[in-house]
Amino acid sequence: MPVDRVGLYEQFHGEMKKARERILTTADGEVGWLLKFIQTDLDTLTASEWMVLAFEIASFVDDVANRRGAEIATEAGWSVRSIPGEGFRGTLPSRGEAKEIQAMVLGSLEKLWETAVAAFTFPQFTIIVTLPVEDERKGSVFVATKRKVKEFEYRFAHLLVDYSGRIRRCPECQRIYLAIRVDQIYCGPRCQTRVATRKWRENHKADQRKESHRGKKRRQG
Ligand SMILES: [Zn+2]
Repeated sequence: MPVDRVGLYEQFHGEMKKARERILTTADGEVGWLLKFIQTDLDTLTASEWMVLAFEIASFVDDVANRRGAEIATEAGWSVRSIPGEGFRGTLPSRGEAKEIQAMVLGSLEKLWETAVAAFTFPQFTIIVTLPVEDERKGSVFVATKRKVKEFEYRFAHLLVDYSGRIRRCPECQRIYLAIRVDQIYCGPRCQTRVATRKWRENHKADQRKESHRGKKRRQG
């Protein structure tokens, strides 16, 4: 039976479009989605949950963040082919590739917090400049970087420019979050309240100890 490749491709594109919508409607949008993704335990996802995420990862590279950095001239696909016979179009990341991305993002953030700098190295990185088309005055620039995971890294590096000062780790629950205020320490009111309550209890206990100590002294004296 012949494979309906056009149908498959349309279906694939439909899923990519839906994935893009999901990313853009996540709280804090792209960066919110990214922080959620890197803190997701991929081994606990069911097959269908994983498929939802796989399309989101693919869409993050190819569609959502296209305004950040130069356009990417794709040279390679993800390792999972979802449309038979297609080269790199219609591919999706494997869980292994997704884990590699999680480690890359987490490692970059740790470096950034530790040294105030995150460096991204691309062993294969090509800049392509083209002649202007039609009545445009300027030409275009594309970048090509092999392995799809590196394309994700390229997008992430550009996204980080906008948010590096606001991505933090909550000292209470260890969750990585996007700070709303510059002086924000905890991820949200829950952690802040928990810490405040604990501090109050500790102080209260210390006061009680002092009180009972004083009481004893008074009785003794
Ligand atoms: Zn927290």
